Amino acid sequence: MCVNDLLLFCKADLSSLQLLMEALTSFSNAAGLKTNFHKSQMIIGLHDNTFPLKYLGVPIMASKLTMVECASLVEKIMARVQIWAAGNISFVGRARLINIVIFGMHSYWASIFLLPKEVTEKITQIYGNYLWTGVSAYKKAPYISWHQTCLLKSQRGIGMKDLAAWNKATIAKLTWAVAQKKEVLWVKWVHERYLKNKSWWDYTPSQDASWYWKKICKIKEEFKQAHHRLPTKQRLAKFLPQNETLCIMCSEDEEDEMHLFFTCNYAKIIWSNLTGWWKFIPEMTNSTQMFRRQIKGTRTQKQTTYAIVAAAIYYIRSARNHTIFKQQKITPTQPILLIKDQVKTRVLFLSSCSNKYSKYIDLILS
Ligand SMILES: [Zn+2]
Repeated sequence: MCVNDLLLFCKADLSSLQLLMEALTSFSNAAGLKTNFHKSQMIIGLHDNTFPLKYLGVPIMASKLTMVECASLVEKIMARVQIWAAGNISFVGRARLINIVIFGMHSYWASIFLLPKEVTEKITQIYGNYLWTGVSAYKKAPYISWHQTCLLKSQRGIGMKDLAAWNKATIAKLTWAVAQKKEVLWVKWVHERYLKNKSWWDYTPSQDASWYWKKICKIKEEFKQAHHRLPTKQRLAKFLPQNETLCIMCSEDEEDEMHLFFTCNYAKIIWSNLTGWWKFIPEMTNSTQMFRRQIKGTRTQKQTTYAIVAAAIYYIRSARNHTIFKQQKITPTQPILLIKDQVKTRVLFLSSCSNKYSKYIDLILS
């Protein structure tokens, strides 16, 4: 058995060092494992807050990580993509390679650090270029937006991983570990050192806390808000009774999902226009599940209908949020144009993969 990397910390004085050596000796006597002093280093004092070694391949930092420290990660990913680019791999194959290999390389670092924005952007750019063109260098604009690329396949996206969102989620996991008081050394340390029996959810870091700790606390705040951010006003009213539950779009009825997306007069105008454009959209029913089941037609027709429905839901919600947060009404024409535009792009993209869609192109583009 051998231990690869072990870091021991102590005060830089003689008695602490002697105690450390004694501890190593008793460990060695008990376990039979000997310290290889030829492979060991002693570091006294840190220059510029940088640790002169890497631990399990990642740099050890007390301050904010910069592009320079992440250069090796970006280089490794670039080298991998360049090897793949030499082979003629299909779009589906490229998507898989990225989601498994590159995502794995990225998440190893992302589970420990909050990576700088430019690093995430650079990696996203490399893998976006490779996904769409098969080479690592930038050549042409992708067919659909990055946001759409990252949607799940069931939401008519490609299912690529959104690296920035993943990075945030992994750090949010740390904040969750603190909340759960997990039996982990650093969680215990956080409770001892910072929280001191205070509630984690109400905790704010002091001004002189480290950059990284402040960042973790900031993500905790976002996480807290996301948990309380409920999708419709009616649900919100359960927590905030004084909150208005009337639909902002028509001011005629309570706002729940069924109303907002289907039975509201605002939504009805949009759906009636879309039904005139694409006849495979079913009649409105009184439940979303029933509505989904009634989507009929060939596979291609159904997929187009799903794309329209998904876009309609998205843009109706956006119009509603815009009205609430910007206090500005949007005419139904605007979401209609955006929905059609998004669906056209989607169908054009699908038809570049399969000729089954080509017979609907004229219809959709009309
Ligand atoms: Zn309404």
